[in-house]
Amino acid sequence: MGFATDTIHAGQEPEPHTGAVTIPIYQTSTYVQPELGRHKGYEYARTKNPTRSALEANIAALEKGKHGHCFASGMSAIDCVFRTLRSGDHVIAGENMYGGSYRLFSKVLEKFGLQFTYVDTSNVDAVKRAMRAETKIVFLETPTNPMMTVTDLAACAEVAHAGGAIVVVDNTFCSPYLQRPIELGADVVVHSTTKFLNGHSDSVGGVVVSTSDAFAEQIGFLQNAVGAILSPFDSWLVLRGIKTLAVRMKQHEENGRAMAAFLAKQDKIQKVYYPGLPDHPQHELAKRQMKGFGALISFDLGSYENAKNFLDAVRLCSLGESLGGVETLISHPESMTHASVPVEERKRLGIAPGLVRISVGIEDVEDLVADVENALAQV
Ligand SMILES: *Cc1c(COP(=O)(O)O)cnc(C)c1O
Repeated sequence: MGFATDTIHAGQEPEPHTGAVTIPIYQTSTYVQPELGRHKGYEYARTKNPTRSALEANIAALEKGKHGHCFASGMSAIDCVFRTLRSGDHVIAGENMYGGSYRLFSKVLEKFGLQFTYVDTSNVDAVKRAMRAETKIVFLETPTNPMMTVTDLAACAEVAHAGGAIVVVDNTFCSPYLQRPIELGADVVVHSTTKFLNGHSDSVGGVVVSTSDAFAEQIGFLQNAVGAILSPFDSWLVLRGIKTLAVRMKQHEENGRAMAAFLAKQDKIQKVYYPGLPDHPQHELAKRQMKGFGALISFDLGSYENAKNFLDAVRLCSLGESLGGVETLISHPESMTHASVPVEERKRLGIAPGLVRISVGIEDVEDLVADVENALAQV
């Protein structure tokens, strides 16, 4: 089946008792067992819930994986993947990834003896050089946040597999509509469903999609043992959101390209970071690896003062953390999403005081461009 068909039908059989087309919210903590030693596949709702199971099957199908496990947030999904490791294991991660992942690795997981090396994963040789005998996971995000650097997933998967490590890709920025890492050799995909998958800025959640039965069994064990599960209501919201993923992404992508083209022409903007622009260093790779360039754009206004004047002047674009909602969200990475990254590190990565990131929504793009144009006049 095609992608749009799967968004609506994968994992979603009509409810057996009434034929309801929409998966109900099974708001229950436990299930009656017909007799001692026999149950209907459901014992306790931390372990399994039908609304959650439907969402897990749906996302696994969209990512071309085999198993899905949903969590209370993107961070708890990522955390769960790393709980499959043990003290002394080594991880290679992108040097410019989601700030919360960096915080989890450096402030929490290192305390438990996991070792992390951060490299520019757009340079495959750098990944190869960082591989060690103890390397168990290569953790990738592409395009990165907020610098929009693109990593060659197939090439990195080859390097990781040759060294006996698995590849885990945080595919939050793209959603499976734009990029399917498993088809390029990744073993595991994680998402913050909070972003494009749910798409309506009204739920926080995460998912781990795996390809191997053995790995999925570990994740399922940990999901139940640690317990950071997605609630039935949130599972239902994300299922509902995903039904329009294909049409939303198409519009996000179209608006994103139009906005990037507008921004690239502005004198007050020093640089625009967007994989869809021909001057982007990995433009050709992005063309090959992604089905489109997405809706996330960063641009540098040159100073904190300029960024502040601009951000205070936008009216339609909402100033806020997060991304991937139907509404356009705009943020200041240095002081918001990436405040936990050390100053020196931010400087080196290019997360400048004047950098602004926009997650282009699906409003009429002329209105968005007019809002940005008006705010630029205040700079
Ligand atoms: C938001 C985000 C996360 C964290 O997800 P939460 O749902 O906020 O916990 C992880 N990775 C990326 C790329 C994100 O954008």
